[in-house]
Amino acid sequence: MTSNELNPEELKAQGLQRAASAANESELKALEREYLGKGGVIQGLLSAIPTLEPSERGAAGKQANMLKGALSVAFEARSAELALEAVEGERLATGFDATMPAPGVERGSLHPITQVTRELEDLFHSMGYTILDGPEVETDHNNFEALNIPADHPARDSQDTFYCNKEGSLVLRTHTSPVQVRAMKHLKPPFRAVAPGKVFRQESTDASHEHTFHQMEGLVVGKDISVGHLIGAMKTLLAGIFGKEIEVRLRPGYFPFVEPGFELDARCPFCTEGCSVCKRTTWIELLPCGLVHPSVLRAGGIDPEEWSGFAFGLGLSRLVMLRFGIDDVRHLLSGDLRFLEQF
Ligand SMILES: [Zn+2]
Repeated sequence: MTSNELNPEELKAQGLQRAASAANESELKALEREYLGKGGVIQGLLSAIPTLEPSERGAAGKQANMLKGALSVAFEARSAELALEAVEGERLATGFDATMPAPGVERGSLHPITQVTRELEDLFHSMGYTILDGPEVETDHNNFEALNIPADHPARDSQDTFYCNKEGSLVLRTHTSPVQVRAMKHLKPPFRAVAPGKVFRQESTDASHEHTFHQMEGLVVGKDISVGHLIGAMKTLLAGIFGKEIEVRLRPGYFPFVEPGFELDARCPFCTEGCSVCKRTTWIELLPCGLVHPSVLRAGGIDPEEWSGFAFGLGLSRLVMLRFGIDDVRHLLSGDLRFLEQF
């Protein structure tokens, strides 16, 4: 019996039954064309309407449309069922389950050195400092000579330097201090500036020595700058880093580019009676600093009779280690995700 000989109720029952038993997507598509497509069963019903008695036309049209709606729903439902069956079949055959939720996207984080550098930049910026940058390959002149470290100066022996050419006129900077020299040539006093960056030493590495590490140089030039200004700036810096007031003390220290020079110690932020970080002394050696040597000002084109200044060389790597309780400087540049994911 063909579809044409069935009444609408029978047509519907037959269509639904065939849709439900379609074995695959292409069989289902063929059915869909047969019933709903051009020249299909539904169109046949609709085109037959004008041949009916006028009183029957309305009901026939309505019936045809309801049949069309019911079949559309049935085809769609079977299509979804077939898709699920296909996934299940693949899972059983291969063990691959396309419906498993995907693993979440992992988010990276800023390196601890970047975090602390940015915090310090914000802090110094709020105190009116300019943030400066300088090249990592420096001239021997900027790295040594202009900082009052002449070729035969004993301090230069202690700098285990990577030279970049045979003449020895280019070096990987051994400290961020050459940025001071550049700053003095380009900024008109009075000014305040800090320069964070990488520095390099030819060292054998261990838990506290690394060939590449980070410093932040600070330089303030103005009228009547004194040690009091220096201490004030350092206390603000430490309060910003450790979130509390930290006592500091100065010990005399010798560095060719400052006069007088000091070693600045900070009261251990982790203990009151001595701990492993402060080697049971309650003080932590933090940075060399001092009033800028007149020769250094002069080398930078600044008249030491008129201007004075202070400078400090903050060990950023060391500060980051203190801040996060990192016990080996080599972790910082290791690129080891097990380390980096902790920040
Ligand atoms: Zn301590």
